[in-house]
Order: sequence, then C-alpha cells, then structure tokens
Amino acid sequence: MTFSLDDLPIREDLRGMKPYGAPQAALPVALNVNENTHPVPAEVAGDILDAVALALQDVNRYPDREFTGLREAFAGYLGHGLTRENIWAGNGSNEVLQHVLQAFAGPGRTAFSFAPTYSMYPLLTRGTGAQWIAGSRDHDYTVTPESAAAQIAEVQPDVVFLCAPNNPTGTPMSLEVIEAAYEASPGIVIVDEAYQEFAPRDTASAITLLPGRERLAVSRTMSKAFAFAGARVGYLAADPALIDALRLVRLPYHLSALTQAAATAALAHADVMLGMVDEIVAQRDRISATVEALGYRAHESWTNFVLFGGVDDPAATWQALYDRGVLIRDIGIPHHLRVTAGTEAETSAFLDALASLESGV
Ligand SMILES: *Cc1c(COP(=O)(O)O)cnc(C)c1O
Repeated sequence: MTFSLDDLPIREDLRGMKPYGAPQAALPVALNVNENTHPVPAEVAGDILDAVALALQDVNRYPDREFTGLREAFAGYLGHGLTRENIWAGNGSNEVLQHVLQAFAGPGRTAFSFAPTYSMYPLLTRGTGAQWIAGSRDHDYTVTPESAAAQIAEVQPDVVFLCAPNNPTGTPMSLEVIEAAYEASPGIVIVDEAYQEFAPRDTASAITLLPGRERLAVSRTMSKAFAFAGARVGYLAADPALIDALRLVRLPYHLSALTQAAATAALAHADVMLGMVDEIVAQRDRISATVEALGYRAHESWTNFVLFGGVDDPAATWQALYDRGVLIRDIGIPHHLRVTAGTEAETSAFLDALASLESGV
C-alpha cells in the first residue's frame, strides 16, 4: 500500500503546499541555484580540515551553545563596530530567517515582501503558521521609497523581508528604500544581503543603518560569495535585544561543533575565500553583454546571476539547454530565465549552448 500526504492528519494550512524543489540534476554545467562554482581554495581547505579534526576530539560533548568564537569571527568580518552580542548564526541563512519568523511571525501574524522575490520567504512564513502577503515592484523590479512605505503602511506586516540585492531579479535596493520601509513598518524588517559581496565595492550595507533601529536585522550567508553552500552557514546582525528573541526559538546546540570549527577557520581566510568574487562578477557582466547581443534583455544585476527576458518559451529553452548539459533556472516569470555566473569555462558552455539554440543548431 502506498500513501500520500492526503492520507495523513497534516496541518490544514500545509495541505496542497509544495516543498522547495530546485532540481538537483547531475549535469556537467550546473548554474541553477546561485552557488559559487569555484571550489574552496586548497590553502584554506587544509586549515578547515585541521580545525574540524580538532573539534572531532571533543565531539562526545555538546558544542558551545552560544558559538562564541564564531560570532566573534562574524563580527570581525562585518566590521562597523559590531560585537558578538550583535551576531546570530544558523545552518544556512534560511535557518536564521526561520528563527526570525518563529520569534516574530507565527499564527495570526503576517510576513511581507515585494514580489517577485526569494521563493523561500513564503514557504518559511507558512511553516510557522503565519500568513504571507506579496507586495509589488515597478516594471523594472525596483521599488521606490514612496511605494515601499505606502505598501507596508497599508499591510502593517509583523515581518518585512527586503532582499537586497533581490533574488531572482538581481535588482539593487538603496538604503533610502530600506529606511522608508523601516519607518513605515510596525514590526521587524529583515534585509537579506545574501549577495552583498557581489555588489559594487563602494556600496553601503544596511548594516550601517543598524544603530538606533532595534527592529532592523541584516542577514548574510556563506553559501554564495564564500563558496561554502554545502557547509550550511548563514548569519545575521542586529541589536542584542533582537538576538535575545532568537534564543527563545532555536534548538539547543543548533550549530554543530564541526560547523562552528569549519566556519571559523574559513572566516580566518575571508580574503582568500572571497578571492573569486571579482572573477564571478566579470563572468556575470559577460553573461549580461552576451545575452543582450543574442537579442535577449538582461536585467541589471548586483548578484552572481543574471535574469534575462525576451525568451519566447522558457520551458522549451530550459529543456534545450538541459539536453546540452547546462542546467539553469526557470523561476516562473513569463518569458524569463535565470542563470548563475560560473567559472569562465562553465559560463562559456552556457553562452555557447544558448547561441546554438538561436542559430537553430
Ligand atoms: C541563496 C540565498 C540565501 C542563502 O541561503 P542559505 O540557507 O544560507 O544557503 C538566502 N537568501 C537568498 C535571497 C538567497 O538567494
């Protein structure tokens, strides 16, 4: 006998929901989930291995529940006068966002963002029993301070997500928009800076807005720029009071000793770990220029991926690229596809495959 979800006494609000499901196909060129496709540099890998080996000697004991050393390392990496009291971390920034929702959303409450945006926000929101409300962006996916304030004032959400720069569109968001959203909001405003390291060098982080704003939080991840997606490490900076709220909902010892050791060792080499960012940005800009030359429209991107429009039949183009060994992402925006900037060779493989479709080869 085989059963399905419908046979189970599952929560009514979870019925009919679909799990996050980006395909994990073993294709030669995988540019679909915005990973850093460069491996961890060999000189850092050795140090990480040594740190993990050391942590293994004490793995019979529970890890430091407060992951003190790692929080200090994140505070040092972020700068701006932050201390470990300002830092939280989890198994990926998705877990950090879940902690925020568990503490500040939940049944009878609402979370809000400007669509299209990161597909995990509604899933994480509904997982806590809260209601998801999607606002809108302008035609070029930007949001003005006036529009942000008006939409948030109307909805009065308990949690606002601002994805800056935005996934899946790549669109930057100015500090003026973030300030306006904060002023209009009665609740928590979380700025998701998963792609901040790919923005132009002189771009100010929302971290500069933290002083005096106790309802503001800024999340980051080691999954993208740091080439550490498989290790599952994300983090957040906020007022110490907000960090205290997250302690109420986390599982005890949620960050394993091995994770803490690996992440702390990697952060000690932040400059080397981030060494590939410039190269990835160059490949991103090459993608934008080349798809434009092929007759598509590349949207401005401050991330490690490009959303391009002008695709007659995204499902067919996605499949044709798949058949040529190249995996990209159909994120459901009509006439658009999204591709991650890979190594130079991977990026060439994608661009050559796309060009071959154009010419009907
Ligand atoms: C990739 C991504 C994350 C990172 O998720 P992790 O759980 O840290 O791997 C967070 N937010 C956005 C918008 C992303 O695209």
